[in-house]
Amino acid sequence: MCKEGRIVVLSAPSGCGKSTIIHNLLEGDDALPLEFSVSATNRAPRTGEADGVSYHFLSTEAFLAAVADGSFVEWEEVYPGRFYGTLRSEIDRKTALGRNVILDIDVKGALNVKRIYGDRALIIFVQPPSVDELRRRLEGRATDSPEVIDQRVGKAAYELGFAPQFDIRVVNDNLDSAVADTRAAIERHLA
Ligand code: 5GP
Repeated sequence: MCKEGRIVVLSAPSGCGKSTIIHNLLEGDDALPLEFSVSATNRAPRTGEADGVSYHFLSTEAFLAAVADGSFVEWEEVYPGRFYGTLRSEIDRKTALGRNVILDIDVKGALNVKRIYGDRALIIFVQPPSVDELRRRLEGRATDSPEVIDQRVGKAAYELGFAPQFDIRVVNDNLDSAVADTRAAIERHLA
């Protein structure tokens, strides 16, 4: 029998560079041996997002039916009316074959995965150098209105309160060192 695969979870307040870090870990010659766990959601696909690649895009009815039949390891209403969930099949099928998986899920989902899988899961919190710096970054992107920036900063401050419960915290001050720190922690977990 092959060794059961391991689980890595990355969580971060929005605007902390989590997707860029994941991209860096999974692409290129030095890509880590991790497969992305494709979550399910009832939100609409954005431009460039393919079904089954970015997410499994479900109708609200189909999502709630999957909740009812126990298809999810965890699920959350991350934004009002917008559901996201980790499919049991994504984790259990892959790890049973000895493959390692990486999840990009919200803070509460990460803590639930840790509660369920214990030492098999490494949960990593990516944080901004400070809430003020996060605000400066979001303002610098100039993609969000002041109200949306206020909401994101408020949510980030709330989420930062969960950071101490994570196995590892990585401060994304400099992208290269944040990627290096995350990579080192994952390599130790997979060893
Ligand atoms: P977005 O809509 O921008 O792709 O994702 C919004 C948020 O939902 C992000 O914080 C992302 O990490 C979180 N998320 C994505 N998939 C899941 C999931 O399966 N479970 C949970 N709890 N959160 C998720």
